[in-house]
Amino acid sequence: MSESSAAAAEAVAARFEELYGSAPDGVWAAPGRVNLIGEHTDYNDGFVMPFALPHTAVAAVSRRDDGVLRLHSADVEGPVVELTLDGLTPGSDRRWTAYPAGVVWALREAGHAVTGADVHLASTVPAGAGLSSSAALEVVVALALNDLFGLGLRGWQLARLSQRAENVYVGAPVGIMDQTASACCEAGHALFLDTRDLSQRQIPFDLAAEGMRLLVVDTQVKHSHSEGEYGKRREGCEKGAALLGVDALRDVPYDDLDAALARLGEDEEVRRLVRHVVTEDHRVEQVVSLLESGDTRAVGPLLVEGHTSLRDDFRVSCPELDLVVDTAVTAGALGARMTGGGFGGSAIVLAEETDVPAITKAVEEAFASAGFKTPRVFEAVPSAGARRVR
Ligand code: ADP
Ligand code: MG
Repeated sequence: MSESSAAAAEAVAARFEELYGSAPDGVWAAPGRVNLIGEHTDYNDGFVMPFALPHTAVAAVSRRDDGVLRLHSADVEGPVVELTLDGLTPGSDRRWTAYPAGVVWALREAGHAVTGADVHLASTVPAGAGLSSSAALEVVVALALNDLFGLGLRGWQLARLSQRAENVYVGAPVGIMDQTASACCEAGHALFLDTRDLSQRQIPFDLAAEGMRLLVVDTQVKHSHSEGEYGKRREGCEKGAALLGVDALRDVPYDDLDAALARLGEDEEVRRLVRHVVTEDHRVEQVVSLLESGDTRAVGPLLVEGHTSLRDDFRVSCPELDLVVDTAVTAGALGARMTGGGFGGSAIVLAEETDVPAITKAVEEAFASAGFKTPRVFEAVPSAGARRVR
């Protein structure tokens, strides 16, 4: 554990003691994530390739046996929120507390004997930036309860339960990528995940050793129509799968894409969605083989191809994300693309270490000239997944 994460654990434990009057049973951490490639594939049973950020949600937790759940976040104004386990009802809570409460609800609903807890948490994952602050929150609580109640659940099971919390309790129709990344990633690796059966492979992804860097550019915008548009894309993909007679678009082989598009006939909207998902799954597989054969620089053009597909076929980009990608590539980046759901949030840039200052400057200047909000640029080092830190 790094010095700074030890200090963060210490601070969260100290605040827990102030709030609840005794030291926590333990402290856990779960990271946010960036998706290297494989966007809008997770609800099509396809492939994704996230890696964990050094940014984490850190939770100090003690178990209780009286059916009470107490929640507090250092990042939200207000007193401790006290809930009773019997009163947990999906859709009833519009506050941040729905995420951790939803995890408790999902665990209990799956038959796990969770009898209450005190929780205080603090997170360095920026919220709403497409870096999965919500999954970090869910997974850190799920892992803490797994340990404290001896549930014996594996990472992928904690991810499933966390996803259920977000889908049903919070009411957000998210796929399985974010929670699995937070629960299962390993330092120095990207996670090649098959979202159909959650089979996974850790792919070495140590850019620093090869003189490269991966930048995250948080545009600091979130366009308000993003949720409705996400729902429409999901429905369109389901329609495409139904028209093609497959369970999910993942079942359309890349080599059969042209034939599949021909069968979709006049429905241009669905054709574009299908084309993105099928080519994107193929790009993930190409990136995996490039990384496994040590040809990391060749990943760059595939990132740009993925962005173009998200912009033109899936149509989930926005002017801010396009500007990051265009500017970075013009300034010498190996590749760049939007990451996460789109309509704002963050983009990633793969670059030679020596080109990072010039690229960063170019992006900042382009945003200033366009009159956009100043973006937040930081380097993302592939980091560890959820773990106990104290
Ligand atoms: P993302 O996961 O991309 O960051 P979401 O909209 O899915 O964006 O999740 C953001 C929400 O998660 C916030 O609005 C808040 O309710 C909750 N959240 C994230 N971080 C914290 C935190 N540190 N404390 C309390 N709630 C948080
Ligand atoms: Mg989220």
